Amino acid sequence: MTAALSASRQEKSVILLEAAPRIGRKILATGNGRCNLANSGPGRYYGGKALAREVLSRCPVEKVLSFFEELGLITVEEEEGRIYPGCGQAAAVLDVLRGDMEKRRIPVVCDSPVIRLEKAGKDWKAVTSQGDFLAHGVVIACGGMAGGKLGHDGSAYRLLSDHGHQLIDPRPALTQMMGEKGAVKGLSGLRLPARLTLCDGNKPVSAAQGEALFTDYGVSGVCAMQLSADAGALLEAGKKPVLYLDFSPMMGLIPRIYDRIRAENPEKNLPLVQAFLKKRAHTLPKDALLRGLAPRLLAEKMKGLSLTDMARMLCAFPVPILGLRGMEYAQVTRGGMDTREFFPDTLQSRRAPGLYAAGEMLDVDGDCGGFNLQFAFASGLIAGAAAANRP
Ligand SMILES: Cc1cc2nc3c(=O)[nH]c(=O)nc-3n(C[C@H](O)[C@H](O)[C@H](O)COP(=O)(O)OP(=O)(O)OC[C@H]3O[C@@H](n4cnc5c(N)ncnc54)[C@H](O)[C@@H]3O)c2cc1C
Repeated sequence: MTAALSASRQEKSVILLEAAPRIGRKILATGNGRCNLANSGPGRYYGGKALAREVLSRCPVEKVLSFFEELGLITVEEEEGRIYPGCGQAAAVLDVLRGDMEKRRIPVVCDSPVIRLEKAGKDWKAVTSQGDFLAHGVVIACGGMAGGKLGHDGSAYRLLSDHGHQLIDPRPALTQMMGEKGAVKGLSGLRLPARLTLCDGNKPVSAAQGEALFTDYGVSGVCAMQLSADAGALLEAGKKPVLYLDFSPMMGLIPRIYDRIRAENPEKNLPLVQAFLKKRAHTLPKDALLRGLAPRLLAEKMKGLSLTDMARMLCAFPVPILGLRGMEYAQVTRGGMDTREFFPDTLQSRRAPGLYAAGEMLDVDGDCGGFNLQFAFASGLIAGAAAANRP
């Protein structure tokens, strides 16, 4: 949609071909229905980082926001630079995009998956179940495979691989982790702030801090999802990843501890937490040590442990990771079309002039926090204008 609007602003005639019965369905599901559409902080991207950098330097967050402002969308910034529509409704983002498409009389042909793209002289022919469409420039913005029915089944990549483009193996990112049953038993539904460190054996691989959510299958929540792609890579390599959860932030000792320790090793906080519990033990009986400190489910789980083991569980609670919940539950696809095969300033294919790519279709994925939509919007704006101005 941003590609279509940006091309239309170049006074070119534009048509949008959509496989689904309606456009922009995924937007409605984003940010828990609130649509975290951008982030004012430094971009955190994986895969084709160089291309992502170039796209976001040409079309930084201010440009994306002023584009939406011109369409009438009011946005607000929340914690960690996350930007949402002021009214708190994802539908507002879709409404302004659709509204401007209608104003500009951009035809949208729904239920019309593009099956293949054929060269037609200097132009391209999009072959769909509803007939063929001829264009001088084509922006392919079919998204990724994440999100179950909100994504595609992988067939959209062929639109580019048919013309010599390489596909970097698509894998789920930003998804929940499945943990060893015994480790999470009794904790389902528990939601609490924690520092999560993903380890390969004892070696820390990556970490994230925020809210963790225990489920009957494992661990969810923004930070677990953040680390899921790394966990997937370890599993694929035959390793046995372990997620350590440090709950000590909720004791009120943190952030002092983090200022000093940076939590590179999940057990580094152990002596401090141990000392804290020992001090508490002067005034409280052992079975009441965690009362008023840890949520009841967690306290129950630690019943009967020695003070040292209790401290260890509070600052390095281990959950062996057995798998990921997969593409269906993922928010974004890691992998996609190899970004080296596109000009970073226009997003035009180096292999098939006249074809452009934008959004999750490309091998670029970002952290939770609005980075994925921001990249999709920004790359769409760039590719749309470039396709419209193709000589
Ligand atoms: C549950 C969920 C929550 C999310 N929350 C956030 C969030 O809050 N913030 C954030 O930044 N990101 C979020 N994301 C990720 C974000 O939604 C995507 O990265 C982003 O929508 C990608 O945009 P896109 O335009 O590339 O692809 P999409 O939004 O997936 O759009 C691609 C479109 O192409 C159509 N299509 C597919 N194949 C064809 C074909 N062959 N022919 C014609 N049309 C086709 C699809 O039907 C779809 O309408 C979330 C994702 C999910 C699943």
